[in-house]
Amino acid sequence: MGRMKGQSASSGLSRGSAYIHKEVNLSFERIIIKDPSVEIVRLQEALQSAKNELEVLQEELTSGLGAEFGHIFRAHITMIEDEDFTSEIIEIIQNQHLCAEAALDDIFSQYVELFSALGKDDYNQQRLLDLTDVYKRVLRNLLGLRESNLASIPKNSIIVATDLLPSDTALMNKEHVLGIITEKGGVTSHVAILAKSLGIPAAVGVVGIEGLSSGVDIILDTRSIDGANICIQPNQEELASFAIQKKQYEERLESFQQAKGKSAITLDGRTIELSANVGSLNDVTSVLEFGAKSVGLLRSEFFFLQSRELPDEETQYAFYKSVVEEFSPGMVVMRTLDIGGDKEVACLPLPSEGNPFLGLRGIRLCLKHRDVFKTQLRAMLRAAVHGNVHIMFPMVASVVELREAKSLLHECELELQNEGVAFNANIEVGVMIETPAAVMIADILAQECDFMSIGTNDLTQYILCADRINEHVSRYYRTWSPAIFRAIQIIVERAHAQNKWVGVCGELGGSPLAIPVLVGLGIDELSVTGNMLPEITALVRSLNYEECKKIAGQVLSLETEAEVKTFLQKNLYI
Ligand code: PEP
Ligand code: MG
Repeated sequence: MGRMKGQSASSGLSRGSAYIHKEVNLSFERIIIKDPSVEIVRLQEALQSAKNELEVLQEELTSGLGAEFGHIFRAHITMIEDEDFTSEIIEIIQNQHLCAEAALDDIFSQYVELFSALGKDDYNQQRLLDLTDVYKRVLRNLLGLRESNLASIPKNSIIVATDLLPSDTALMNKEHVLGIITEKGGVTSHVAILAKSLGIPAAVGVVGIEGLSSGVDIILDTRSIDGANICIQPNQEELASFAIQKKQYEERLESFQQAKGKSAITLDGRTIELSANVGSLNDVTSVLEFGAKSVGLLRSEFFFLQSRELPDEETQYAFYKSVVEEFSPGMVVMRTLDIGGDKEVACLPLPSEGNPFLGLRGIRLCLKHRDVFKTQLRAMLRAAVHGNVHIMFPMVASVVELREAKSLLHECELELQNEGVAFNANIEVGVMIETPAAVMIADILAQECDFMSIGTNDLTQYILCADRINEHVSRYYRTWSPAIFRAIQIIVERAHAQNKWVGVCGELGGSPLAIPVLVGLGIDELSVTGNMLPEITALVRSLNYEECKKIAGQVLSLETEAEVKTFLQKNLYI
């Protein structure tokens, strides 16, 4: 019946029912009531329903992610059970004859003032966040509204939302989601990365989603790098064509399975180390199923995401250890905490910034919060006893940051040694190349690190000056720009001159079309989302390195992104 276009953020083809995900509207009127007892009953019922919801969430989170995450909701239940809190609200209802919503709101405002007066330390900020969550939950129940909760999403849903934050997706029932469509976001936003790791097709930057309503039949086709196609309420002909294409698509995916777990080695004998990108223990399970033997990017911040308290050294150690043991003797490249930009974690509130992607991000944030950084480094050094750990720093723009980070790593080693705690100091230390500065000083950085991994998602936004999640500049975020391939050439040349290996862990490394160019440019390692492993393995095994060098040379001589895309598509190197 209708069509919409967007950018393809995670490749695939599916059909499902639209599920409109919206923040619920919590506005209400301050009403003077006649009978306080009715309001008190309404309040008590709302508190009870809120508590019931929290108990279900606590159970789901505990079984899905572990007891430490379930505690978030335990804290909320304790607040709801707090008799002082309830009696303060009841007092206002009785004395001022205010409706329950207004009484709750007044008490909440008093608490906000109180917390604000106590100062802005992390502890108070967290309590305030918890209180705000509880306030919204009780108020929503008073208003008789249902939670827009992705945990209870119906089967065969295609989520339609203005935006989806990583925290929205933490509780999402992934089994029931067949696709994601958002108005905001870019092709390398973290929703895109999550969708890829789950093997769910996703379209971002889609205009006109407000015209969709829940339950509408949708075909989502994100297979082409030229954009996503969304077909709304398909007719018989469109449904028949979908059925044929879906079958072919599944057969194609099936054909890659033969390459699963094999070495990624070209026909003329060049081996590319193929690793997986991982963000959670769930990812570990899924990438192992796709045949992963090593991890080229452990996005450690995702472990911090669901937690209201900063995970302590023991908790982190247990997590890293379990990942390392799964892949041993394969390497696990642990990236240190990379928050800021579009990644926020409740356990470390960040100042609000005008340009967060140019702000306190990645290594900058860790060098500011040295205690948090050192706790993580100690946990990683300890986990390294159990396998092949590499540590990597994100968002480096100067060798000074690398030196500071390495000196803190050394400090942690000395501390552990003095405390008699087992650790492994014999690990490789790497730098993510994500900033133009890092490209230009790749030779200097290479002298002081063991390896480099190119974060093309950020490198693209910084080289092309186009925010990776801003849909208004998505046409300037040119993944296939010759500027990016030229930058990669510089990095590889400079790193290889110092005998250091270079990987690509950004999304470009998992794009089939880019593989011949990356192989030809001399990339040693590719770290990709798990579901792409069989396809990329099959692809590398079908290539000839000498031929790839020629392809890379040709790409470097092209002038525009469109020329690069056309050249690669026309020559069908996929
Ligand atoms: C990148 O920037 O390419 C990268 C791999 O890191 P992230 O996407 O987590 O910022
Ligand atoms: Mg990055």
